[in-house]
Amino acid sequence: MPEAPSLYAHVPFCASRCSYCDFHTAAKSPQALHDSASTWLHAVDRHLQSHGRRFGDSGFNTVYLGGGTPSWLPVEILIKVLDVLGKSARAGGREPAEWTVEANPEDVTGELLNMLAGSGVDRLSVGVQSLEDEARRIAGRRGSARDTMKRLELIARGWSARWSADLMFGLPGQTPSGIARDALWLAGLGAGHVSLYELTLEPGTPLQAAAEAGTVRLADEDERADLYEAAAEVLVGAGYRRYEVSNWAIPGQESIHNEVYWAMGDWLAVGPSGVGNVASENGAFIRLENADDDGRYYDDPAGSVRESLVSGVDAMFETLLTALRTVRGLNVSSFENRFGIDACTVFGKLHEEFPELVQYDGISLKPTERGLDVLNVPLLAALTNAERFEKNSTTGNGVSA
Ligand code: SF4
Repeated sequence: MPEAPSLYAHVPFCASRCSYCDFHTAAKSPQALHDSASTWLHAVDRHLQSHGRRFGDSGFNTVYLGGGTPSWLPVEILIKVLDVLGKSARAGGREPAEWTVEANPEDVTGELLNMLAGSGVDRLSVGVQSLEDEARRIAGRRGSARDTMKRLELIARGWSARWSADLMFGLPGQTPSGIARDALWLAGLGAGHVSLYELTLEPGTPLQAAAEAGTVRLADEDERADLYEAAAEVLVGAGYRRYEVSNWAIPGQESIHNEVYWAMGDWLAVGPSGVGNVASENGAFIRLENADDDGRYYDDPAGSVRESLVSGVDAMFETLLTALRTVRGLNVSSFENRFGIDACTVFGKLHEEFPELVQYDGISLKPTERGLDVLNVPLLAALTNAERFEKNSTTGNGVSA
């Protein structure tokens, strides 16, 4: 890897499980948490050392401690893990360009904020989801809207670095006027970044079971569009720019760490279920999937990683897919440098096929505002064209990558 990779660390614990969530995490009471969290910390430390032996100790470009709920960790474990991550990140004398920690508002105290800032953390990602009580109740979020708002006010007063708020749209109980009020309130409070996610109904979650049983009614497509538009209108008015399908920022407050994912850069992952990605030859990349079984992860100093090589047209398509999620788009000469072939040869001229959705400015293929909402349309065409290209390449009728 020519430059330092980024690092994602996954915390597999929460205080309780939200009704819509299928992330790799387990609800733990404070009593049950301590031993599990110590075992997790030990395994993360060993896995980092194992990564260092294989990929070098050149430090990390960005660090992201997510989960799960990092702020739910016992404070002494959180201090230790920040120390372990910080030492690895600063190896070689570098300071990470960004260090994010996810937090649940209910866990936020002045002491926590001071400790995070003192450890070098310079960005908080706070799970708000909704400030409407009925929506919070159905989603299984901790704390009332009023409690959450009080904690967020504490962040506004006591946290001088950047912070981001997650909002969801489509939760039962949400209203357009309510989500608009939430977005306006967060903007007024100084959240420089808002992730606006659509609720997805994941199989096996309590919310999916409740929807199937008819005990909750989900917003239909039109209602979701109304919720999204109500939030988006407020964010635009408050000076945010949508820079990725689900992410909005005041210019300059974009997430550097997430940009690494969308550019198919290099990042390593520690913690059960974490997924890393490092460049290989000819544009290919190695996907490193940590065991998502906590026991297996803890037993193996190398994280019981499953490794696969993503190459050829698969790697090209993944690069296009992630790039088109962002307004930055796909830089065609970077693509050609990486894969040795022109993107239009592989995917067709998407900007000519879908001028309303994709544009080409001579440097990059970029989604339009409308394109960000219906990316599946050009991507499906790109995939079909790429498969045709691959078939022709292997039968000798096309240009080989
Ligand atoms: S706090 Fe986050 S990770 Fe934990 S259950 Fe809720 S949504 Fe999932």
